[in-house]
Amino acid sequence: MTGSAKPAKAIIVGGGIGGLVAALCLHRAGVAVEVYEAAREVRPLGVGINLQPHSVRILHELGLEHELAATAIETAELIYVNKFGQHIWQEPRGRGAGYVVPQYSIHRGELQMILYRAALAELPEGSVRTGQVLADFGEDAQGVHARFVDRDSGAEVATARGDFLVAADGIHSTVRRRFYPDEGEPKFSGRILWRATTETTPFLTGRSMVWAGHDNQKFVCYPISEPARRQSRSLVNWIAELRVPLDSTPPRTDWNRRVEKSVFRAPFESWDFGWLSVPKLIDGAEAVYEFPMVDRDPLPRWTHGRVTLLGDAAHPMYPVGSNGASQAILDARELADQLAAQTSIDAALASYEAARRPATGAVVLANRKGGPDRVLQLAEERAPNGFANIEDVIPRAELESIAQSYKQTAGFDRDTVNRSAAAK
Ligand SMILES: Cc1cc2nc3c(=O)[nH]c(=O)nc-3n(C[C@H](O)[C@H](O)[C@H](O)COP(=O)(O)OP(=O)(O)OC[C@H]3O[C@@H](n4cnc5c(N)ncnc54)[C@H](O)[C@@H]3O)c2cc1C
Repeated sequence: MTGSAKPAKAIIVGGGIGGLVAALCLHRAGVAVEVYEAAREVRPLGVGINLQPHSVRILHELGLEHELAATAIETAELIYVNKFGQHIWQEPRGRGAGYVVPQYSIHRGELQMILYRAALAELPEGSVRTGQVLADFGEDAQGVHARFVDRDSGAEVATARGDFLVAADGIHSTVRRRFYPDEGEPKFSGRILWRATTETTPFLTGRSMVWAGHDNQKFVCYPISEPARRQSRSLVNWIAELRVPLDSTPPRTDWNRRVEKSVFRAPFESWDFGWLSVPKLIDGAEAVYEFPMVDRDPLPRWTHGRVTLLGDAAHPMYPVGSNGASQAILDARELADQLAAQTSIDAALASYEAARRPATGAVVLANRKGGPDRVLQLAEERAPNGFANIEDVIPRAELESIAQSYKQTAGFDRDTVNRSAAAK
């Protein structure tokens, strides 16, 4: 492959949220794509995630507006409360906050299925291959090559050639490990997350997101199903979080690790706020999944020759600002935009990294400091027994500044999103 960025062929490793959006965006930019996904079949795994307006705009431009609206909850408001359920901060979200596009809360697996169906419909047949695990890759004068093995037998099932390789293979990225062999396991924060969904009657607006507690004990919940809402029900995604000693052995970073509720339920027994009962939500769940709160340090470099990283492979982050999936989607779009704009693949990969690596590194670090959830810990430290008036505890200007500065760091403040939507 010579210097031209077009026409080009990409090998994408990983058919998760980042890999599939990358495939759709690159295809539209005139790049041929082959996606190799380790899972034998794409199934709706995971629980809820959020899509901030900057990433929703990208999904709308991919033609997914109607499917998202029919599937996801258009988030109306975000509310932070202390461990007694007293309101610390409340703000409208998405279109209610003046954005021209919504914020969505959605089941991760359903989003993946929406993207997978779009990829099957739009890409040439055979472009998305499942059950194929990246085993090895390299680069020569002709471009990049990769070898894939069967997930179960380990037998070689495919070799691929392309002009560049995009590693969207998640938090345990094989490609990242090759470039950073001494990095080891993801970094444990000393907190464990228990994730589940519970079908129940709606709370508050039926489209509200609630963050309760403080750094040592937190509970987050929000509805994620528009079909349930239409039947006056709520499918509520929730995450219970507890701090454990930092030197204790964290559980495996496995998104599908199921555990009993008794492991974490007791400390939440008294968290019945009247308008929301945490113990009832926990009791109503069928299956609970355990995941340690982990991330990785921002990297000095994503692109090595014609191989680059994207999404969680590049920047796994704590789930405190509801941004993990959105940042992967932003990466995908930036990569495609750069390939369309630049005259060589090398220049496009360099510009992609220059745009996205510092930006996502800043989000990883902001999340380590608590991101917008910082208000919870501030309220706990300043008023551990609760308060009559939050303004006596945290002045409004301070609350506003925490919320606004996080949005700017993560690139989804209203003016930025609306300006870029108008520019398209
Ligand atoms: C099964 C699953 C459930 C999840 N559930 C949640 C959740 O409930 N809440 C939440 O906040 N986040 C969840 N996540 C993570 C979330 O999807 C990501 O943080 C975010 O969307 C960024 O997406 P990504 O595409 O970079 O990574 P991911 O969505 O993790 O996708 C990575 C993909 O790469 C594939 N892959 C990995 N290694 C290889 C290999 N060697 N060869 C080929 N393919 C490979 C994986 O099977 C996966 O499909 C989950 C991820 C997975 C894989």
